[in-house]
Amino acid sequence: MIVTGERGRNMAFGSKLVAGNWKMHGLRADGVALARGLAERAAGAGRACELLVCPPASLLTTVAGVLDGCGIALGGQDCHAAAKGPYTGDISAEMLADLGCRYVILGHSERRHGHGESDQVVRDKVAGAWRAGLVAIVCVGETRQQREAGEAAGVVSVQLTASIPDGATSDTLVVAYEPVWAIGTGLTATTHDIAVMHAEIHARVPAGTRVLYGGSVNPKNAAEILGLAEVDGALVGGASLSADDFWSIAGAAG
Ligand code: PEP
Repeated sequence: MIVTGERGRNMAFGSKLVAGNWKMHGLRADGVALARGLAERAAGAGRACELLVCPPASLLTTVAGVLDGCGIALGGQDCHAAAKGPYTGDISAEMLADLGCRYVILGHSERRHGHGESDQVVRDKVAGAWRAGLVAIVCVGETRQQREAGEAAGVVSVQLTASIPDGATSDTLVVAYEPVWAIGTGLTATTHDIAVMHAEIHARVPAGTRVLYGGSVNPKNAAEILGLAEVDGALVGGASLSADDFWSIAGAAG
């Protein structure tokens, strides 16, 4: 059912998105076990939110097979901007789509900081994702130093402007606000700071675009964060490696 929600956006009823970023974790047996755990839970319960898992590229085919028909979407963790070519070690958005992906995470801080990806690089990758028909989950967020210097809103604003090509729509774009200092640290932004930043992001992206929060979301803090009206879901790293924890977070979104 499509309803008009707050901020005048069209949204599928109850359509928060909870996405699991498995990062570089898991051999095939681990991927199968985790995906089976999720598929079993999906079979046994109704759910008011949309679920997505983003395994490493090596596990996409395996996980796609296990999740087939259970309603949990599949996504990549990164892609190259080009459709194909001499780019050793890379994967294109077309290849992800071919494996059954509907989403791709782009501009994660571990790519921006660990691989030196600029806003322009992220922007080109987003264009590649759209070319292949994928929804781009564009990650933005400030470092601890930037927040302490009062620069968080400015940094995120520049990232949004410079990383998202023209032509974005709420069907092709998801934004994930992930303060860098909160990723994998056990620290989370205050609900006040999350609400303020999400409102600012919502004002800068097309109406109806989902804005996820990411940064040490876990079963204990999920209800408080996902209960915020400005938060349209979560991007979950560490806790998505446990089917129990991921399901518990998904429950908080429903
Ligand atoms: C992430 O990788 O996007 C993330 C938010 O990780 P974690 O939940 O472990 O902080």
